[in-house]
Amino acid sequence: MQTSFTAEQLADPHIAEADGILRKCVHCGFCTATCPTYVTLGNELDSPRGRIYLIKDMLENGRPADEQIVTHIDRCLSCLACMTTCPSGVNYMHLVDHARAHIEKTYRRPFFERLIRSTLAMVLPHRARFRAALKLAKLGRPFAGLFEAAKPLRPLGAMLRLAPATVPPDSPSSRPSVHAERGEKRGRVVLLNGCAQPVLEPSINDATIRLLTRLGVEVVVADGEGCCGALVHHMGREEAALENARRNVDVWIAAADKGGLDAIVITASGCGTTIKDYGHMLRLDPAYAEKAARVSSLAKDVTEYLESLDLPEPTIEIGMTVAYHSACSMQHGQKITRAPKLLLQKAGFEVVEPREGHLCCGSAGTYNIMQPEISARLRDRKVKNLAATKADLVATGNIGCITQIADRAGMPIVHTVELLDWAWGGPKPASLGDGTG
Ligand code: SF4
Ligand code: SF4
Repeated sequence: MQTSFTAEQLADPHIAEADGILRKCVHCGFCTATCPTYVTLGNELDSPRGRIYLIKDMLENGRPADEQIVTHIDRCLSCLACMTTCPSGVNYMHLVDHARAHIEKTYRRPFFERLIRSTLAMVLPHRARFRAALKLAKLGRPFAGLFEAAKPLRPLGAMLRLAPATVPPDSPSSRPSVHAERGEKRGRVVLLNGCAQPVLEPSINDATIRLLTRLGVEVVVADGEGCCGALVHHMGREEAALENARRNVDVWIAAADKGGLDAIVITASGCGTTIKDYGHMLRLDPAYAEKAARVSSLAKDVTEYLESLDLPEPTIEIGMTVAYHSACSMQHGQKITRAPKLLLQKAGFEVVEPREGHLCCGSAGTYNIMQPEISARLRDRKVKNLAATKADLVATGNIGCITQIADRAGMPIVHTVELLDWAWGGPKPASLGDGTG
């Protein structure tokens, strides 16, 4: 694609990067076929190619964002299916990240939208605030329908419906701690605790710690770490995202320098995609560029790290069929497609995959709150495809997908690592109840 940025515009490293990305696009449109919003809405402007044109036009003309571009960029899930499909290697992720930051700086959203977005940015990345908000949401749940009746307030209704009926108690593994390996030491890792996951399902990191320590790995939950920044990053709040990234980089580099680190293990693939991008996000910050690149190179999804260990035979025979739901951030963001399935097979599960496995379930960070209608259509499509597998349960590696699908799947949905922990000597995941397996 030809571009026409001026030399002055290209002096801005963000524009220079966007120019390089845009030039790679050859307009072939292959990406439209796998884009969930194009498949759902059928509008070229809701396809990757259409969005690329809109972004090009906005940036080349140095224009502030307008309502049209905000509508179509907001509808993008950042699922990155387009990047998997694109034969030209167009880095849509970095292009849309830049577009979102430009929108945030140049566009004034309607009052309720600003209020809801600010509230989400203030609450979700902080565990204590999120926990308190979930308890309040429980009280507000009966009024979800009222909010949904008024268009500007629909995100509030979606938020109330997504809130779980019960909030599990805080787990000791959510606090800064060192979990010693059992037996001969085979490694030392930091485990990301993060923000929403330890509040919604602390059992995921509990299982990770049990499994890794049983396999001889020391697990550190570092003091001072927190949200990876993905939630605000996808809202275009660049400075807030970089602040989160810098804090985590400082904490993890200190942990690496203190006792050596084989990996920074992450159990939420959405966070993994962002942490693996810290090197890029902080590339222009001379104080952090090198350290951030080091953190990104250490970041591993828990299944990637487990695959590098020589696992013994499982301790029990499970003999169940699991439908593996690959989160977009896992398959498109991190390109991890093999490890989770191989590990589940090694654990004794028969692994099946749903049709249209490349399509997003509609969770996508705060997307299911801000775009509830499109999100619900994608969720229903995903649930139908999962049900058609006739599996006993669903496994996935991202808390967002678990929250999105759990109530509708008609079968239990469990984090992959909880199943692996079970197969290698841990307790049966609570969501499987007593009747299964
Ligand atoms: S990130 Fe996903 S929703 Fe956005 S343009 Fe690409 S495929 Fe479509
Ligand atoms: S597949 Fe790649 S090159 Fe083709 S239109 Fe989409 S982004 Fe451009």
